[in-house]
Amino acid sequence: MRKNIVAGNWKMNNDLSQTESLLADLKSQTKSSDAEVMVAPAFTNLYQANEALKSSSIEVIAQNMHFAENGAYTGEISASMLKSVGVKTVILGHSERREYFNETDASLAKKVDAALTNNLRIIFCFGEVLADRKSNTQEAIVESQISNALFHLDADAFKNIVLAYEPVWAIGTGETASPEQAQDMHAFIRKTLADKYGNDVANNTSILYGGSCKPGNAKEIFSKPDVDGGLIGGAALNADDFFAIVNAF
Ligand code: PGA
Repeated sequence: MRKNIVAGNWKMNNDLSQTESLLADLKSQTKSSDAEVMVAPAFTNLYQANEALKSSSIEVIAQNMHFAENGAYTGEISASMLKSVGVKTVILGHSERREYFNETDASLAKKVDAALTNNLRIIFCFGEVLADRKSNTQEAIVESQISNALFHLDADAFKNIVLAYEPVWAIGTGETASPEQAQDMHAFIRKTLADKYGNDVANNTSILYGGSCKPGNAKEIFSKPDVDGGLIGGAALNADDFFAIVNAF
């Protein structure tokens, strides 16, 4: 059966000493839920973070990677580089990557393949913008994002894929999808998976919600049957807030 997961996406926040201090705060927290817990520091701090969390159950994950194995891609990081510092999971397709760094469904499909070839687990992000929601095309948008980047894979690959539905209008805006809006979309995503791969894949794939998830709303969102956790931005930068969300299950 699918797992509950709470992952903190630190984005471009926290230098080395801030990272060390947040990790120490996280280590002092107590987990009372069954959720798997992950944090995604900046590339420059992945090694130290992994060392610091070795004795804890919190997994250190990466925020992005390039699709090429190596070579002339100045400024980029490959899957094998991530693996060499102990990373086993990578976030791909975050809306900020799509918006500011021109990531497309096609380039994401290549990243997905590169991650899986390197045995990395993927948290694959997608979601509609406000204009899509206003024109009621959010389901078609989400379906195309998922199918364009993932539906060339075989069913077995989904053992290493976690989905993260992040409506762009709710990211960092303080505006959260209502628990019902999240549930409706998550149910639609699960049905889309079932139609393509069957019920086993659909029922065993974790689908996270992301977008202004915080201690005050996590419990209600996570109580929905098709919501299996959250990808947390702003609230992941404070250990008390983050663990309040982890323990909201
Ligand atoms: P937010 O970000 O929680 O700050 O809205 C979520 C995300 O971008 O993953």
